[in-house]
Amino acid sequence: MSKKKQLKYDKAYLRIAREWGKLSHCERKQVGAVIVKDRMIISDGFNGTPTGFENYCEDEEGYTKWYVLHAEANAILKVASSTQSCRDATLYITLSPCRECSKLIHQAGIKRIVYFDKYKDDSGLAFLKKAGVEIEQITDLD
Ligand SMILES: [Zn+2]
Repeated sequence: MSKKKQLKYDKAYLRIAREWGKLSHCERKQVGAVIVKDRMIISDGFNGTPTGFENYCEDEEGYTKWYVLHAEANAILKVASSTQSCRDATLYITLSPCRECSKLIHQAGIKRIVYFDKYKDDSGLAFLKKAGVEIEQITDLD
């Protein structure tokens, strides 16, 4: 695929991730993710509480509950419960991954990440770079 065409697809998938983020019930931050493999979306996710728990992500003081799952963790776990695998897939995400999620991303076999916003702590990105994951930021989506 040409670089120009790749960028066009990357933007389209990242826009889908952004739409997905809007489905999050979290108030502080809404993050969306899609996982693409062989030019197919094999998973999606947004940050939120686990299945069976109330949808509120923040406690009375406005802090995010510790058991809220991040968008990419939800997307990866969705693949884990299917017959698919993330091996060599690309993750599109609206916010660069945290440390915890970056471990999951690498271990799941994801080879490339395209993100929109940069998370304040970039040690997740540094870890992924070291692990050989290709990382790209796209900031002009519209
Ligand atoms: Zn995370």
